[in-house]
Amino acid sequence: MRRIAVIGAGQSGLQLSLGLINMGYEVTIFTNRTAEQIAQGRVMSSQCMFHTALQTERDLGLNFWEEACPSVEGIGFTIVNNEEKTKVFEWSARLKRYAQSVDQRVKMPQWMRAFEKQGGKIVIQDVGINELEQITPEYDLVLLAAGKGEVVKQFARDDEKSIFDKPQRALALTYVQGMKPILPYSKVTFNVIPGVGEYFSFPALSVNGPCDIMVFEGIPGGPMDCWQDVKTAEEHLEMSLSLLKQYVPWEYERCSDIQLTDDNGYLAGRFAPTIRQPILTLPSGRKVFGMADALVVNDPITGQGSNNAAKCSKIYFDAILAHADQDFSTEWMQDTFDQYWQYAEKVVAWTNSLLVPPEPHMIEILMEASRNQAIASEFANNFDDPRNFSPWWFDAESAKQFIKHRHIKHVA
Ligand SMILES: Cc1cc2nc3c(=O)[nH]c(=O)nc-3n(C[C@H](O)[C@H](O)[C@H](O)COP(=O)(O)OP(=O)(O)OC[C@H]3O[C@@H](n4cnc5c(N)ncnc54)[C@H](O)[C@@H]3O)c2cc1C
Repeated sequence: MRRIAVIGAGQSGLQLSLGLINMGYEVTIFTNRTAEQIAQGRVMSSQCMFHTALQTERDLGLNFWEEACPSVEGIGFTIVNNEEKTKVFEWSARLKRYAQSVDQRVKMPQWMRAFEKQGGKIVIQDVGINELEQITPEYDLVLLAAGKGEVVKQFARDDEKSIFDKPQRALALTYVQGMKPILPYSKVTFNVIPGVGEYFSFPALSVNGPCDIMVFEGIPGGPMDCWQDVKTAEEHLEMSLSLLKQYVPWEYERCSDIQLTDDNGYLAGRFAPTIRQPILTLPSGRKVFGMADALVVNDPITGQGSNNAAKCSKIYFDAILAHADQDFSTEWMQDTFDQYWQYAEKVVAWTNSLLVPPEPHMIEILMEASRNQAIASEFANNFDDPRNFSPWWFDAESAKQFIKHRHIKHVA
């Protein structure tokens, strides 16, 4: 029986481990927090997942919250006139298939229990180089799925693929109940506030049932980069409301009766989007293979990290099964990562493009979407597979053709 070790019990590590144990592999997860610590800890993400990523979970029978979790049925987009506190333009479109967000404090503990129930072993340990040296001789393959944990910095930064070396946004999350719903369909309400940052919210499932998650993306040094002195849960909620009142009053109106989901329903932080080399060679010469955020960490502005993690997990799962009992060589590792990168590269490019001032053709596309529902719909549905933004999002001439073609379709 093949023995696999996975470091990290997050979206990618657990999804892969659950898939493999189900196929008869002997899988051990080494992770630094117990299910109880995760359940009782701080929120970690807003984890909105679109159809294709959700389907990878369904395929493994892991969609335990399909019924309980509210659906995200569409995407709304607004550009804010910051001086007049008005909307420059807005559009919204339904998703062909819904998205969902299950609080990782709900999802990961339950997946950990399901994994143990199926005979998987979980070792609670903070893994560094010394621990990896002890783990690697015991297993056919060691995968490091430690997200943004310090240990992932052992993988060399890929300077060619990483375009930023600093955080591009000051991030904050506020999980609330009591937000007024949007009719006729629920959506991600994405607001771009030029020079300030972005604000969006959407429905989710948290520890106390359905909720809404507010996500603040402040440009570093700007007025939404304001969380340093915010210490308590109450202060965090207060700051969230004051930002809405000041920059997106139409969102503030939805929040006259909100409260935090729980004392841990908030988060503030920042990190630099980074791509790393996929294989770590330990001092002993043994190899560790990285996955998901450990190798490709994106800013949450486009809500793609958990989607990427699920898709990466699926690619690795298929590659491990296809490899049967052959050696997990460095060639196999590189080839497997390259398959993932073929997908992730486009997601990274699109996400990064939203972190810097937009090119004129990008504004043109977004504005056209407010006049042409076909463009709005295509844009919204591409969140499920951002490869479809290529080439028109990135290239002025292709953008022109894209708009022209959709306009003809719209008129016809
Ligand atoms: C503010 C914010 C909002 C986000 N919103 C979205 C969104 O709307 N949609 C979306 O798709 N994505 C979103 N993401 C990203 C998403 O949460 C991550 O991309 C995803 O969880 C990555 O999965 P992973 O398996 O790589 O790592 P994680 O899920 O982070 O799991 C890492 C695991 O490794 C463990 N670990 C870490 N270090 C060690 C160590 N040294 N030893 C042992 N174990 C270790 C951790 O405890 C954890 O169990 C958001 C992220 C943030 C920060």
